[in-house]
Amino acid sequence: MRYAFGVDIGGTTVKLGLLTQDGNILDSWEIPTRTEDGGVNILPDIAASIRAKIAEKNLNDNDIAGVGVGAPGAVDDKGVVHQAVNLGWGRFSLKEELHAMVKLPVMAGNDANVAALGECWKGGGRGHKNMLMVTLGTGVGGGVIVNGKIVNGVTGSGGEIGHMHLVDGEEEACGCGNHGCFEQYASATGAVLLANRVLAASDKDSVLRHTEISAKNIFDAAKDGDELACEIAKQYGYYLGKGLALCASVLNPEVIVLGGGVSKCGSMLFDLLKPSFEEFVFKGCKDTPFALAELGNEAGICGAARMVIDP
Ligand SMILES: [Zn+2]
Repeated sequence: MRYAFGVDIGGTTVKLGLLTQDGNILDSWEIPTRTEDGGVNILPDIAASIRAKIAEKNLNDNDIAGVGVGAPGAVDDKGVVHQAVNLGWGRFSLKEELHAMVKLPVMAGNDANVAALGECWKGGGRGHKNMLMVTLGTGVGGGVIVNGKIVNGVTGSGGEIGHMHLVDGEEEACGCGNHGCFEQYASATGAVLLANRVLAASDKDSVLRHTEISAKNIFDAAKDGDELACEIAKQYGYYLGKGLALCASVLNPEVIVLGGGVSKCGSMLFDLLKPSFEEFVFKGCKDTPFALAELGNEAGICGAARMVIDP
């Protein structure tokens, strides 16, 4: 076995990669995600694209460990999708159906969990086997790696830390239907929510009153010393640190890796989250190191390939 395919299914495109067993990406490409008709074309399209790549590169099936797949939904240890709303999928065995089409071993997982495995193998968690990965984007995605393996959970909902309850009495609903979820405060959307609340509660001027309120603009303004932006960033850090403290107290990971759009503000994020992290975390986990994700969009195909290289 010298090669593996990694597949990262998104709502509009499917990213595919051909990797060596050491994790070097030899080739990567994309195909559209055809979500119409309940997503029936998605797996046949992936299988055809992989068979075409095998022919193009003159590869022998015996040299291929298999096809790992990350999908945006709940996927359990057996490769069964419980639901993937954005793809139109209900419950079925992704592992068995794709295997029947592509004639190679298949492993499947939730996309955020698979990306975490990629970061653990080749990115910000490199060298560790026990890691928490948190993606701070439009929502908050999570992935838990224990002893080098993804924690999928019984119904594929393992690592959904974005929907951990953090705040009582929140009136706005989270996308999941609950109230007061971690991602309502610690996502890029959450930073905007906090900004709107801080700005509404104050008469002070701020550059944020004269520009579009986005996570990037908030953190840029805070770096420039804007008083209200600093207050928003401080509140953001409070919630982020508190949520991560709860996770760390359960997992006691070797490292916590932060990725996603908000993590682009860099080490400032660590300074913002550390006061509440250290306040709330169990003392035995107080020295948990933090790192930034390194693989960006490639984390998905790396982690997907890793699932079949080290099944
Ligand atoms: Zn939620």
